[in-house]
Amino acid sequence: MKKCLICDKKLYEEPTMIHTLWGIDLAESDYCLDCLMAFEPLIGPNCLGCGRKVKEEGKVCGDCGYWKKKQVTLLKHQALYVYNEQMKAYMAKYKFIGDYRMARLFQKRMHEMIRQIIKKEKIDYVVPIPVSKTRYGTRGFNQVVPYLPPTPKVIEALKVRKNKGKDQSEKSRQARLHAKQPFILDQEKVKRLKGKRVLLVDDVYTTERTLYHAQARLLEAGATFVTSCSLAR
Ligand SMILES: [Zn+2]
Ligand SMILES: [Zn+2]
Repeated sequence: MKKCLICDKKLYEEPTMIHTLWGIDLAESDYCLDCLMAFEPLIGPNCLGCGRKVKEEGKVCGDCGYWKKKQVTLLKHQALYVYNEQMKAYMAKYKFIGDYRMARLFQKRMHEMIRQIIKKEKIDYVVPIPVSKTRYGTRGFNQVVPYLPPTPKVIEALKVRKNKGKDQSEKSRQARLHAKQPFILDQEKVKRLKGKRVLLVDDVYTTERTLYHAQARLLEAGATFVTSCSLAR
């Protein structure tokens, strides 16, 4: 018996009438309707810096206002979904159990968003946020990579600095905010970024730090413009 990949509820083998009516495709048929409906699309108006929902069009949220005052160039981040309980449940299964099949659920929409940003922002290279070697070991893959469209623009130019500290997800929000630069540059690959426009891709935007640390590294490498996107925010 086929089960929902998130909540383990039993599923019908055949696509049901309701699946057809909702326009649910094959990738979504691995999930029950309750799980699918619980994802919350991130609808605007969005903060110009981080993409979270704000009251008025054309504004930045409090956090981004803080970064702006520090003379940091805002990332103009975009995301598809709210990081709600359902998205947390999905991510927990996808990341920690390492079930590659689960990436398919959002693959198409991620590919679309990334292609749109490439076009609109004239992006030369797409750089995924890397995962640490220890995490890579337990999961066997970088969970961001399946969300990237197949294009020669993808370049894994960032690497995680080796340290014996805890994994990001095990640290408290406060500890993450004060974390030191976690990334290093791949010296070979990074040569290509000089004078280029770059899109950073992550699975979830939880704190500003990760992406701004990545942005700082890419600017160091000579990139002229850095923007970012993620599945959830
Ligand atoms: Zn379910
Ligand atoms: Zn913001």
